[in-house]
Amino acid sequence: MISITGLRKSFGAATVLNGIDLEIRQGEVVSVLGSSGSGKSTLIRCINGLEKIDAGKITVDNFDVSKPRELAEARKRSGTVFQLFNLYPHMTAVQNVALAPVEVLKVPRKQAEAEARELLNSVGLSERADAYPSQLSGGQRQRVGICRALAMKPSYLLLDEVTSALDPEMTSEVLSILANLAKGGTTMVFVTHEIEFARSISSRIAFLDKGQLIADLPTEDFFSATGMALPRVAQFLSKMR
Ligand code: ADP
Ligand code: MG
Repeated sequence: MISITGLRKSFGAATVLNGIDLEIRQGEVVSVLGSSGSGKSTLIRCINGLEKIDAGKITVDNFDVSKPRELAEARKRSGTVFQLFNLYPHMTAVQNVALAPVEVLKVPRKQAEAEARELLNSVGLSERADAYPSQLSGGQRQRVGICRALAMKPSYLLLDEVTSALDPEMTSEVLSILANLAKGGTTMVFVTHEIEFARSISSRIAFLDKGQLIADLPTEDFFSATGMALPRVAQFLSKMR
């Protein structure tokens, strides 16, 4: 599991994550919701060891991400997809997907590329496998990005606003891929503004407000939160609908 305890992170004088405790077990789909600036991306970046944390502890399958020797192991277990399609422009879709298995896992290139084609197939991109990123639509690029994370056979998939740069049609392409992964039992931490979609695929909702996790609830409990019990959640939900 991913285990986060007492996590604090500041940038200069600004405390961005102020004592976060969160556990994500295998097989769960946890959506992280919260207003813009509440610390969602910073949380994902901390799990990935992309930000140095100020206090607390984050482990991924018991590997401590703040220890350089353990971070590589932790990273192998959690694949991340970001909002912007950070594909290598000079590599085809297949080459992008096969890169890390070849470089990091030392999978023979031929085998890695065959597996990459299968993954691209599974997201409806068999015809575009040899295209370069510039020849793909945003939705197609984001599907390649998801395949690239999956190619490392991660235990956990971390997704940070993967549809927020896409138009509605492309968004639904990508969300349907994620729904299939969720059904297939892929563990996901899903940062999103797609509230209704989060409701449909999540087992739990974690709600961040000004750097604090003010709710961590089974999905239906979250969505039935009342103004009396959880005023910030109720206010957030009423704004999003
Ligand atoms: P969210 O993803 O929920 O919109 P972020 O985690 O991106 O929120 O940002 C939370 C806060 O931290 C924001 O106020 C943002 O300006 C600040 N922040 C994020 N990254 C940095 C950084 N590298 N340096 C300084 N401030 C940052
Ligand atoms: Mg963000």
